[in-house]
Amino acid sequence: MTILKNKEEIRKIRSSGKIIREIFILIKDEIKPGISTSGIDKIVESLILEKGGRPAFKGYRGFPASICASVNNVVVHGIPSEKTILSEGDIISVDVGVEKEGFYGDAARTFKVGKVSEEAARLMEATERCLTEAIKKARAGARLFDISNVVETIARDEGFSEVRAFVGHGIGRNLHEPPEVPNWGEPGKGLVLKEGLVLAIEPMINAGTREIDIMPDEWTAVTADGRLSAHFEDTVIVGKEKAEILT
Ligand code: MG
Repeated sequence: MTILKNKEEIRKIRSSGKIIREIFILIKDEIKPGISTSGIDKIVESLILEKGGRPAFKGYRGFPASICASVNNVVVHGIPSEKTILSEGDIISVDVGVEKEGFYGDAARTFKVGKVSEEAARLMEATERCLTEAIKKARAGARLFDISNVVETIARDEGFSEVRAFVGHGIGRNLHEPPEVPNWGEPGKGLVLKEGLVLAIEPMINAGTREIDIMPDEWTAVTADGRLSAHFEDTVIVGKEKAEILT
């Protein structure tokens, strides 16, 4: 069952989302060769707390950190570590969840570390475009898989592949709520979208195969072929004419 949000609930999700949006702007310059992923995690955690939020990922099903930090071939759920130090040419996906006043926001960006390969740049650009175009479909009267299909189509047109092992989701009073928002699907199918539905849309796109493996830490998801992966996510509210991006 999907949950439509009222104005007061949306105000709260908006305030969680604002924290995440500000954090992405603030950490952009910190992401450079030599910093560890746990260094980024510490910065983000203190910013979340400073802004009156709570890091939503920390402790979620036992996850040990405030961000997921997924470098190069890591698709999602990378655990920040002092041993993972960024180098020139890496790409890193930073996923941040914040709860404030009982409501959640969730978003991710993939950042370049210095100058990256042409393939990495193209993968990032395509994944970000998947998100931008998918969000345009999140309006009242459209179908859920209209969103999904846009992601799949853009990824394939670029010669990349959409990850199917993880999906986007509803969000609000919980970090994950119905409905699931897959990154593939037939247009014109799925739930009819209504105003007030809040979704975390999150294309995860691989340069090669869409297949993934989970590492022994039971979190880190890597591409099965070792090639690059990118991840962009925003929390959005379905509107009458167009979606509003909350993160
Ligand atoms: Mg999410």
